[in-house]
Amino acid sequence: MSYTPHRPSRAWRAVSLSGAVAVAIAATGATPGLNAAPVPPRSTPVPVPAFAVRPNADLWFLDSLVGRSGKLRALFVSRRHPSYAIAALAQLFGDTALERPGVYTLRDGDTTQPLSFISLVPFTAKVKGRIGSYRLGTWPHERRTFRDSAYALPDGFIEVTPENEDTYVSEHFRLRDFLTHDQEDVWPKYLVLSAKLVDKLELVIADLNEHGTHVEHLTIMSGFRTPEYNHQGVGKRGGRARDSRHQYGDAADVFVDNNESGQMDDLNHDGRVDLRDARIIRQAVDRVEEANPDLVGGVGLYRATRAHGPFVHVDTRGERVRWGAR
Ligand SMILES: [Zn+2]
Repeated sequence: MSYTPHRPSRAWRAVSLSGAVAVAIAATGATPGLNAAPVPPRSTPVPVPAFAVRPNADLWFLDSLVGRSGKLRALFVSRRHPSYAIAALAQLFGDTALERPGVYTLRDGDTTQPLSFISLVPFTAKVKGRIGSYRLGTWPHERRTFRDSAYALPDGFIEVTPENEDTYVSEHFRLRDFLTHDQEDVWPKYLVLSAKLVDKLELVIADLNEHGTHVEHLTIMSGFRTPEYNHQGVGKRGGRARDSRHQYGDAADVFVDNNESGQMDDLNHDGRVDLRDARIIRQAVDRVEEANPDLVGGVGLYRATRAHGPFVHVDTRGERVRWGAR
């Protein structure tokens, strides 16, 4: 599932680009939508990727790399979809990068959050519900074709190791934030993650900050859930949906937790942490969806229980759905 948001070129100016990608932009000169991006001169020559010098090259992948928020730091590359992202990955890291799934980071020395290409493990690597020792289970529509593309099988998996789990996928989030909370001692772990979701969460953070709610830390209480893990909660009271979006990597249960207390902060400063605080997040999602119709999805509000504080479910399923306490 390639995600190709089109943003005005000015967004590039805010991004500290790694050398190779910056050169790619510079070399294209008058590419529509990217031509205004100024690139500082470099003292040391950087090899120009071949894809960058093609006249009128379609550089959508560079656009999608930083997303509409301008804050994405990873591009998920699947060999199921021929794209410039694949060409770029091969050019920058060698032809074998597609066959060797993993995280390929552009090291530049001058940025704390470098850009990464993440080469996915194909979905077909899952055999009898597992990859290696990691159990994933079976997706709801895995054994027959299903017409709703939102429920199509994932393109592939991000292989997460103790060495790469701190890789930033965007300004505020790392790979580890989205992992299923089970099989603690099993590595590598496998993760499905949608760039659209990460982009949307970054837009929500930016929107909250613009509307007077200071956000430094948005906790992902639950991001990706393997079908096996999700199934454990199906049918229980307050439990999980069999078709839960969490299995597709485009859903997250979140709360604002600047002081990292493990619970939602008192966002409206009324002295209580409750659904009123969750509603402030929902309002931000409403505004983000209004401005970005292709990021629409579900928003659910959840009250505090003995096990957790209030939280908000956010997803990018493609149709607007709202549930939970009003
Ligand atoms: Zn959820």
